[in-house]
Amino acid sequence: QPEEVTSFQDEVSLTQMDVESLWHPMVQHKKYERTPPKRMDKANGCYVTDSEGKEYLDGVSGLWCVNVGYGRTELADAAREQLVELSYFPLVMSHSPAIKLAAKLLELLQFEGKVHFSNSGSEANETAFKMARQYHAQTEGSRRYKIISRYRAYHGNTMGALSATAQAERRAKYEPLVPGFLHVHPPYCYRCPFGKTYGSCNIECASSIENTVIHEGAETVAAIIVEPVISGGGVIVPPDEYLPMLREICDRYGILLIFDEVVSGFGRLGKMFGHQVWGVKPDMITLAKGITSGYLPLSATVTQQHIFEAFLDESDPTSHFRHINTYGGNPASTALSLKNIEIIETEQLPEQAAKMGAYLRAELATLEDHPYVGDIRSKGMLLGIELVADKETKEPLPGNKVGAIVSYCLEQGVIIGRNGSTVPGLSNVLIIAPPLILTKADADLIVAKLKEALNSQI
Ligand code: PLP
Repeated sequence: QPEEVTSFQDEVSLTQMDVESLWHPMVQHKKYERTPPKRMDKANGCYVTDSEGKEYLDGVSGLWCVNVGYGRTELADAAREQLVELSYFPLVMSHSPAIKLAAKLLELLQFEGKVHFSNSGSEANETAFKMARQYHAQTEGSRRYKIISRYRAYHGNTMGALSATAQAERRAKYEPLVPGFLHVHPPYCYRCPFGKTYGSCNIECASSIENTVIHEGAETVAAIIVEPVISGGGVIVPPDEYLPMLREICDRYGILLIFDEVVSGFGRLGKMFGHQVWGVKPDMITLAKGITSGYLPLSATVTQQHIFEAFLDESDPTSHFRHINTYGGNPASTALSLKNIEIIETEQLPEQAAKMGAYLRAELATLEDHPYVGDIRSKGMLLGIELVADKETKEPLPGNKVGAIVSYCLEQGVIIGRNGSTVPGLSNVLIIAPPLILTKADADLIVAKLKEALNSQI
């Protein structure tokens, strides 16, 4: 058979196998039966190439994780060398790439504390919740077990992380979830949950959390978990006062403050870590995604030393952290992560993200007059454009129009994200979070295609 015929047959059979065997996340499969998903075969820098050879500028870095860009052979080399040397060993004992990475993370975070590894952002958050509850049980003998998070937050897919996730549409079919999780309003200035305007609001989104704590009984609240910027829930950037106020409330009532830096870590917001943007130090930080730029699974839960020290009572056989996972801190993942961090540091990618993010934001300002553009929000290389049908009433642009805008960009070779709600009116934020190595030409392409896409829907 001629070569083209064989490769055509391979292509057809791969597509067939996809439809017959693969259960994709977050998609209605009836759609894929009609139009199979694009299959990406290659990637380099900010670009991915599909099975038909078409290139796309990846404006969301996979799932906002490929911070250093695709195709870094030195990352593949680091993993390969480590796999040959020591392919696996659990961290009940130890190995050098995990030790070196833990030390490196503490140095970068300027944390005196400890690092616990797992495999995904969800797991890192589950770990933080369990540590928080056990910490309180072992310090005050207290009954502090409640975890407070914000509406629109996303903290993961496992039952605890989903319980902290406060997006009704993601939870609906899996309830009842884990008891002891409470939700408060987010710092969403464009649609202020308190009907106020920034400047005369006394940052009620933060101060009202104190009321929740008081009404719940402060002695029952273990932790507050926040993403520094709510990412998947619509790129909600807090006012500058917000995170410092949360820190104060936590200190006043003995509550642990957990920052979910799964997205904001490793340069995304223009500093190495999101909390550094506001100068607020949490008690625990969870990291994933950019920790390996998505090349291999890895996550971390980092705690301050005083938390770790509550787990050291040898007279109590249950005082240590009774929690284990098979793959957390895997030698290849941790070795690769060290190399990934070296790239982020030597190429000064957080600074790049700040610079190019500011450029992108300035270029997006040319869209502000567009009738569908209600609000543009950004921090570093994480940008959101909230689309409305009516700028006065802020009625959200219908989902099918938002979908058409995203599809137009895709067909034009630019991948743009959108927040994933199926609730009417809550899926109208376009998301831009490219690799941190984005060039000006790439940024211009994103803005040009977005402009065309928005105009195509008028
Ligand atoms: N936390 C945040 C802020 C996230 O955006 C995500 C995933 O998108 C997670 C946690 C969960 O991470 P994972 O998908 O690795 O479990």
